[in-house]
Order: sequence, then structure tokens, then C-alpha cells
Amino acid sequence: MQFSDLQHFLKSFQAFHNEKFGNNSSEDVDLLMNMTKITEEVGELAEQVMKYQGRQRNAKGEFNLSDLEDEIADVIIATSMIWVALDIDLNGALGAKIEKIKKKRWM
Ligand SMILES: [Mg+2]
Repeated sequence: MQFSDLQHFLKSFQAFHNEKFGNNSSEDVDLLMNMTKITEEVGELAEQVMKYQGRQRNAKGEFNLSDLEDEIADVIIATSMIWVALDIDLNGALGAKIEKIKKKRWM
């Protein structure tokens, strides 16, 4: 999958969501909702990592790789909603960040 595929999917998803539920909130509220969703998904990913490490209560169920993969995807998707909402050049932003990291840690 390419970034452009994800961007197209998220724009389609947002349009579907707005049509089904209406879009009567402001950009500020939408961004706060996105941040809330990211927080929720990071928590779900943390639960999967704890299961992977055998540090989760038995009542939470067994570790399953596909559940961990789902939660990683959820974090990426939830985070990407901000990228799409603000129309950020993700390729440029990621490239610039990777260069910063390389200079700090390895070069
Ligand atoms: Mg999730």
C-alpha cells in the first residue's frame, strides 16, 4: 500500500462518515476527536504489546499476532486522519524527519 492509497481511503471514509452522521463540528473539535481516537488506539496497542510480553492478565485473553497487527494499523490510520485533515505533505514530512533522526543518532 502506498501513502496515496491510504490518503484516498481516509478521504473516502471521512466523506462516508460525514454523509452518514453529518459534519456539524468545527475543525478544532474534529482535531480533538482525532487526538482522542489516537489515544484510544495507542492504549489498545499497548494492551497487545503487554500480551506479547506475557504481562497482561489472563482475563484479557491470549496473544494473537493478527490482533497486534490490527492495533498497529489502527494507530497509523488514526494518526493519518490528522495528516489528511490538515492536508500535510506526508512524504516530505517523513523524509525531513528521517534525515533529522539520521543526523542526531547515526551520522
Ligand atoms: Mg483498535
